[in-house]
Parts: sequence; C-alpha cells; structure tokens
Amino acid sequence: MAKISINLATGSFQKEEIIVGIDLGTTNSLVAFINPDKNPQVINDAGKGILVPSVVYFNGQNEAVVGNEAKEYLTTDPSNTIFSVKRLLGRSYKDVAEHKDIFSYKIIDDDSDALVKIYAGDRFYTPIELSGEILKELKARAEHALKTPVNRAVITVPAYFNDSQRQATRDAGKLAGLDVMRIVNEPTAASLAYGIGLDPSQQKTIAVYDLGGGTFDVSILQIQNGIFEVLATNGNTYLGGDDFDRAILNYWLEKNNLDVAVVAQDNILMQTLRLQAEAAKKALSTQNLYNEQVGEFWCTLDKQTFEQLISAKVEETITACKNALKDADLSASDIDEVILVGGSTRTPFVKQAVENFFGKKPQDNINPDEVVALGAAIQADVLAGNRSDILLLDVTPLSLGIETMGGLMDVIIARNSKVPTKAGRQYTTSIDGQVNMKISVYQGERDLVKENRKLAEFDLKGIPAMPAGLPKVDINFLLNADGILTVQAIELRSGVKQEIEITPSYGLSDDTVEKMLLDSIEHAKSDVEQRMLIEARSEGEQLLYTAERFIEKHAEHLTEGEISATKTHIEALRTALATQEKDTILKKADELNEFTRPFAERVMDAAISTAMKGKKIE
Ligand code: AMP
Repeated sequence: MAKISINLATGSFQKEEIIVGIDLGTTNSLVAFINPDKNPQVINDAGKGILVPSVVYFNGQNEAVVGNEAKEYLTTDPSNTIFSVKRLLGRSYKDVAEHKDIFSYKIIDDDSDALVKIYAGDRFYTPIELSGEILKELKARAEHALKTPVNRAVITVPAYFNDSQRQATRDAGKLAGLDVMRIVNEPTAASLAYGIGLDPSQQKTIAVYDLGGGTFDVSILQIQNGIFEVLATNGNTYLGGDDFDRAILNYWLEKNNLDVAVVAQDNILMQTLRLQAEAAKKALSTQNLYNEQVGEFWCTLDKQTFEQLISAKVEETITACKNALKDADLSASDIDEVILVGGSTRTPFVKQAVENFFGKKPQDNINPDEVVALGAAIQADVLAGNRSDILLLDVTPLSLGIETMGGLMDVIIARNSKVPTKAGRQYTTSIDGQVNMKISVYQGERDLVKENRKLAEFDLKGIPAMPAGLPKVDINFLLNADGILTVQAIELRSGVKQEIEITPSYGLSDDTVEKMLLDSIEHAKSDVEQRMLIEARSEGEQLLYTAERFIEKHAEHLTEGEISATKTHIEALRTALATQEKDTILKKADELNEFTRPFAERVMDAAISTAMKGKKIE
C-alpha cells in the first residue's frame, strides 16, 4: 500500500504541490489552502469574494456562468439558472420528487429510479456536470490567486451523504480536472479546523451543529487515534436561514395588511422584501432593532419578535440534536465540544439554544461559513504528507470496483480509502428471467473497465427467475489490513451467495500505479464523456425494450393511431441510439416517455378496474 503524489505538469513525484480544500455547498462554495505560514486560509481571488454562490447559468450559447454573476439570472431567467444542485447530486427523481416545487428549472422525470437530469438551454445536464462547473470555477479562482496549477483537492460532503452521492461528488471533481484525493465529511473538516483530532492521542466526542441557508444537520463524532467515526447524524435538509427570512417576510405582510397572493404577483417587490428580511435577520445578530422604509411601508422588526418568529424552527433543530444523541446512545453531558457551522449560527438566539441544550458554550470563533473549507485544507495538507505529526493510515492506491452496464467501472472502494475498509452496493438484473450474474472485479481509475486492470471474475448462479429489476444483489467488498480483498455477492430474496478472495496489489509496482493514475488524469474528461454516453445508451436501450414490450402486451388498450405513433417514436430513439450522441439519445428517450405516459396510466387504470371487478364489495 502506498500513497503517491504526482506533479501533473512533469509527471514526477512531488511533495510540494498544493492540494486545496473545497467546501462544495448547497448555497455557497469556497476553496482554501495552507499558506506559506502553514495556516489554513480561504481564497479570495481578485477581491471577487470568498463565497462563490453555487449557481450555474447557461446563456444562449450553452456557456456556463458560475457564482454571483449567475445568481443575477435567478429572477430574470429562472429556467436556465440552476441553484441547489447539491440537493440533486447522486439522487434519483424518486428521491427528490417530494420537493420538486422549489426548483424553478426542469428536472427530467422519465425514469424515477435513474439519476436525475436537468434541462437547461437546449441540453441535458447531470448534477455531476453542473457541480463540475462550480468546481471548475473554484479551481480557476485558486489557480489565479495562487499563480500555480491546482490539480488536486479534498472535497467535503455532509456526513449523511450516501455512497452514490459521494461517488457523484468525486466524478464532478474529475470532470473539473481535479484529482479528488479524498471525500471528507463536513463535520470532520470543521473539527480539524478547530484543531480537534490532530493529536492522535486525543480522544473526544463532539457535536457539530450546522445550520446553513437551506439545510440543517447535526453530527455526533467520536475521535480516537486520528480516526473520526460518525456515531449519528440527524437534521432536516429543507430547514435553514431561508425559513427565518420567510417568517419575517410573512410577518411584515401581515403587519402591513398585505395579501401574500397579491404581493407574490409583483416579482420585484417580493424580491426586495425578501432581501430586506434577510438584512433585518443579519442586523439583529448584532443589534436590537431593524427599521427601514421600502416604498410606502416600513420594515420594522425588534429582536424579541424575531426570536418568537423563529423559535419553532430553532426548537426543531434542538429536537434533531436530541434524536442524534439518542441514536448515538449518549447524553448531552458526554459531549466534550460543540462546534457551530453555517451562516445561520450567527443568530444569537440559535447559539443560545445550542448552548442551553448541550450545557456548554459552543466553539464559534472561526467564521462559520469558512470553517469547513479551512478544515478541508488541513486534511489536504495531511494527505500531502506535510504534517509529520499525524499518522497517515494505510490507504489503497487504486480504486476497486466492478463492471456494470456498457463496460463501465463502478467504483466500490475508492482509491486512498483507509484500510481495513468495507463497502457495498446493490445491483439488479436487466433482463427478465435472468438467473446468472457475471461479476467482474477491476482495479484502476478509468471509467471504462477495459482501461483498468482485471482482478477476478465469477458467476453468481441460481438467482430465481424474476422480471428484470426485481432481484436484489448485494455486492460487498472487504479489504483487510493486509490488502486482501474479499468480494461477496448475495441475492437477498433467495439468499444465493458466492464469495472470492483476491490480492489486488499482487504484481503491481509503484511505477505501474503511477502510470495508471497519470493515465486517468490525462483522460478524465473524455472518460467522463464516454461514461455519460454509455449511461444514456443504456437508459435508451432499456426504454426501447420496455416500450416495445408494452405495445405488444397492451395492444387492446391502444388505438391503431397510438400504436403507430409510438412505433415512430421508438424508431426515432433507435436511430438516435445509432448516432452515439448523448443529447440526441436523451431527447428522443424523453419524447418517447412523454408520449407514452398517458397510455401507461390508462393501462394501469384498466388493470385496477379489472382487478376490482373480480372482488365482491359487501
Ligand atoms: P451558509 O449556507 O452556511 O452559507 O449560510 C447562509 C445563511 O446564513 C443564510 O440564510 C444567511 O442569511 C445566513 N447568515 C449570514 N450571515 C448571518 C448573520 N450575520 N446573522 C444571521 N444569519 C446570517
């Protein structure tokens, strides 16, 4: 096991290259590095500001604009201005459907199990591509400010992010031309910024309370021997400072006898009042009264009223803290330190509520907007080998994964993961009645397995015949401290199981590992593009299969005209699949879906009424 640092410009080993820390946030993102005085510092490129709004706007030429400039289009061109993309990262439409109203842009809902896509300009974008645009901007700002190429980064994610959200974050980094050294939990980064966990002999249990603009989470961490273990997380991904602003706005409308529905018609007035509400909230963090005139009416608010307005929301966050402690099997007195993260923790009422609950003063002397990025920079410095005081655990030098549809590499254990480690993912079949599943294990960083190193292959046999998509096959990777990988596949419905043992590093020299890494960086962009094309093709092919079967099976519920029009759409998709153009394929797939959706509903209704007929209602 080795940790390898490469200078991407020269291809040689190098220790000095700067690795940045990135906080890729829902509302704002920022980047930090370790300055020559060995202190973490946030980057403010050419005075453009430290916080880069996580907003991407596509102009008429499909060019991406990121940050403050993009934010200005939120009101004037909302359907082409993408915000909060982090909420969509690694998620399927099914995951986000409940909250789809908050998005003013078009989220494609053709296949509720597949990862979401967004339609802007006249193209389809994945949240990975959009997050990639934000990361590109951060990379460019860092390079400009530091006057050096920046190719490696540590990126933070919420502790509750699942495997697919973490993988999506990694892919976004890759797309931005960044070698993502590690994905770090935001609460871990925050505690590193406060110096907690830097001394391996230290043992602490901490709570990290993170209240941002639109999200809230609390994590309980146990830190031991330099290892951060998340004991519990809790929160609400749709609760934050924006709710405080809304409460103020509604209060003012009521006080001024204004009808919300009427004011809502006036976009400019609404926007002005919303900004006033936020300004009032911020001002009340340091003063007792806010009083400003907008047009003919006054925006007045005193601190006490403000606190009454937000108290139910704040109480909700405290309940989440209670639940997190309960899940961790701890009580408030077991917590050694409490750390505050997120702009909304500047509100004194919030701070006081947290202090009252945990019975101790929270740590708040680092800027709560910057603390995560600063911690990420410290983690980056540790990975760069610049902190000899910290023990770096053994890591796996190359990613380990399996082959999925279209010859794609699906990473299960990411490179640089500490060993021992275990990880798993669930798969299913793509053909009706499939009874065997071939599992091919690969090692490497490329998106296509054919460019990686094959380690083993085996068949999971005896899966009971079921319709495509029904079997649940768990594939688990267990990498022990000696670097031995055990791969286990189990079909959960039947219990059919198969297991093999492999030594991934066998026969691999450091030079080979280095070459594999360099190749992956060189081909990152084309790899990701190929991956996206293959994914689009697989989706398209699956849809062809389903649509053709559908018109065959349910012909009696369809008119001749509907059948022939569906066939035309099917043929258009087939032609698109031959073009190898991702966007054309997605467009034709979307059209076929839109066209057949009403038929599918009709057939469902017919099926239900047939089923009901057989039943006697007494
Ligand atoms: P974040 O998502 O961490 O960037 O936090 C942004 C949220 O913090 C927004 O709702 C801001 O209005 C809020 N915020 C920023 N500064 C202050 C302040 N001084 N007092 C209260 N809330 C603030």
